[in-house]
Amino acid sequence: MSDRSDTAETLAAIDPDLLGSYLDQPYGAVREEVRTALARPEFGPVDPEITSKEYRERVFEWLTLLSDEGQTTRGLPAEHGGGGDIGGSIASFETLAYGDLSLLVKTGVQFGLFGGAILHLGTRIHHDRYLADIASLKLPGCFAMSESGHGSDVQSVGTTATYDYESLEWVIHTPTEADRKDWIGNAAVHGQAAVVFAQLITSDDNHGVHAFVVPIRNENGQVLEGVRIEDVGHKLGLNGVDNGRLYFDSVRIPRSNLLDRYGSVTDSGDYSSPIENPTRRFFTMVGTLVQGRVSVAGAGLSVSKVALTTAIRHGNLRRQFGPPDDGEEVPLMEYRAHQRRLLPLLARSYALHFKQAELVADLDRVFSGAESDEQARRSLETSAAGVKAFATWHAVECLQTGRETCGGLGYLTSSGFAQRKADAEIFTTFEGDNTVLLQLVAKSMLTGYREEFGNLNPLGMAGFVATQAVSRLVERTAAGELWGRIWDEITPDSEEDGDLNDREYQLALFAWREEHVLESAARRLKGGMDDGGDPFEVFNACQDHVLVAARSHIDTRILEAFAHGIEQCEDETSKSMLNRVCDLHALSVIEQHRGWYQEHGRISSTRSKAVIRNVNSLCDELRPHAGDLVDALRVPECVLPEFGPGGLRG
Ligand SMILES: Cc1cc2nc3c(=O)[nH]c(=O)nc-3n(C[C@H](O)[C@H](O)[C@H](O)COP(=O)(O)OP(=O)(O)OC[C@H]3O[C@@H](n4cnc5c(N)ncnc54)[C@H](O)[C@@H]3O)c2cc1C
Repeated sequence: MSDRSDTAETLAAIDPDLLGSYLDQPYGAVREEVRTALARPEFGPVDPEITSKEYRERVFEWLTLLSDEGQTTRGLPAEHGGGGDIGGSIASFETLAYGDLSLLVKTGVQFGLFGGAILHLGTRIHHDRYLADIASLKLPGCFAMSESGHGSDVQSVGTTATYDYESLEWVIHTPTEADRKDWIGNAAVHGQAAVVFAQLITSDDNHGVHAFVVPIRNENGQVLEGVRIEDVGHKLGLNGVDNGRLYFDSVRIPRSNLLDRYGSVTDSGDYSSPIENPTRRFFTMVGTLVQGRVSVAGAGLSVSKVALTTAIRHGNLRRQFGPPDDGEEVPLMEYRAHQRRLLPLLARSYALHFKQAELVADLDRVFSGAESDEQARRSLETSAAGVKAFATWHAVECLQTGRETCGGLGYLTSSGFAQRKADAEIFTTFEGDNTVLLQLVAKSMLTGYREEFGNLNPLGMAGFVATQAVSRLVERTAAGELWGRIWDEITPDSEEDGDLNDREYQLALFAWREEHVLESAARRLKGGMDDGGDPFEVFNACQDHVLVAARSHIDTRILEAFAHGIEQCEDETSKSMLNRVCDLHALSVIEQHRGWYQEHGRISSTRSKAVIRNVNSLCDELRPHAGDLVDALRVPECVLPEFGPGGLRG
């Protein structure tokens, strides 16, 4: 059995610049441009005592500055004032996330959500009418989907858009208090228009949720007739963003304000759509907005990098205790406990970095038209949902651990932890609540046939699971196609001999867990249905199991992406280092689930202990390089705290 404590070899030091350049690719120039912008004095941190009103104005000024300099619209089409570079726009957003997160979110609302909805759900007439003004910030706007009554279940929003064929207008209305648009960024102060998601109603039918451009203020900032706007009030964080509530009292807008890429009406009110099934249509519409999730995933990852750079640099400098009779105190990073708290998280940030890069490349391919088939889109959506959930939960964990490992200093406002914790933790909820997103991942895994699943919400999928998808899955796994391959990799005979640091072996263990959890979840669902259970109840009873299946799926995809990223690295020293970091990531995940692997007979208790030993020795091995590894992440020095004489800045 290979046990790293027996075979430890000395790792050569990397050149952080070289590895940093590799990590920045293929958007190194864009990232550098944003880093340079963030270092300018005018983007310095806001006074913690600032009022929300002042903070919102400061953020708007920043946004105007960045917009004037062309930093914010890379993803919008070139003919409408943008840069036509989708991947570059995400890289820019990820880098902006090192700085003030209210600015980041306001940018996301204006250009990503408001602009993105018009771009993806509208047609030529809307692009010509709005996009240039959105790009120049002449038209500040909102993305008004959530309601007080419906946050995660947005297919059930209550706002109505009823067609009046006599006046050729839509009548936008908020029927009850629960149907008011809630949490809407840019609504409380700056927004002049909103993309409002509402049930489209013609004389004969409700055709489901569609998006409409609704003016809410005039150019002087006065609220328009029939529109009522409330401020949501002070929040835990992101107080530089003006979130508001919108009410519409039979507000009339022209027929052409319907964003009609996926559904249109004639003057006389006849509805037509290229997608017949209303629920499939809805999910297709929402699917085109996937860029928001990819952006938030990248932002979460950047936040984790700031927290870990701060904590690891501090751990290298800060000394506490030491061997008796030795006078010298020891840097915190020398302590096994400290390494254990920080290095697996650092390894996970690296792993997520490669998965995020893959996701951005997929997004760019799909939305630039290079790969636009249905399957590629579906797989992008599933991946974005999973990575967004993992990266934003990871950000929260890094912020908490980073704060604690900096001790009292981490509690100082100037450390940046307080503000980032307050601002970034909502990333787990907006752009899709993480737990709900993981159900979407599970749904896609359970069927592989989103088309047939299209008319079911995450909970309502049980009926389909029971009838077709599960049978297919069970047949597939029973036939042993995939399991056979995986099983061969880790047969009991080879188990004790397999090299824990062998990537194939690690991948096989991950894949085995993924398949096993998925199959057992599917069998449970099918069993419940075969016993005559109500689909909703059956699915609900298995929900915990389904979520574990989603997590194990994402775990495997992340490790695959990390392994692939290492293969592409041309510098051998960086490659060796990345291999060790990847080992630490993989074995930390296996360690976390070692109880499960033992319960299922996949690893022995001896093997399980070897995993723990290997994680420890990988921590030993990587500890001298931890400083270089965080330097390679290239967090701008200007966003790091100074922490006393000498400071943490490189
Ligand atoms: C600061 C901020 C800014 C925002 N900006 C915007 C914006 O600009 N535009 C916009 O349209 N919206 C915006 N939102 C709204 C945001 O998208 C919603 O808050 C989010 O979608 C979650 O909805 P909810 O708050 O109603 O939570 P709920 O849907 O009520 O969820 C509450 C909890 O219930 C759980 N839950 C829900 N359904 C299930 C289920 N089926 N199974 C198991 N558990 C479940 C969730 O996991 C969650 O933990 C913003 C929100 C915030 C806080």
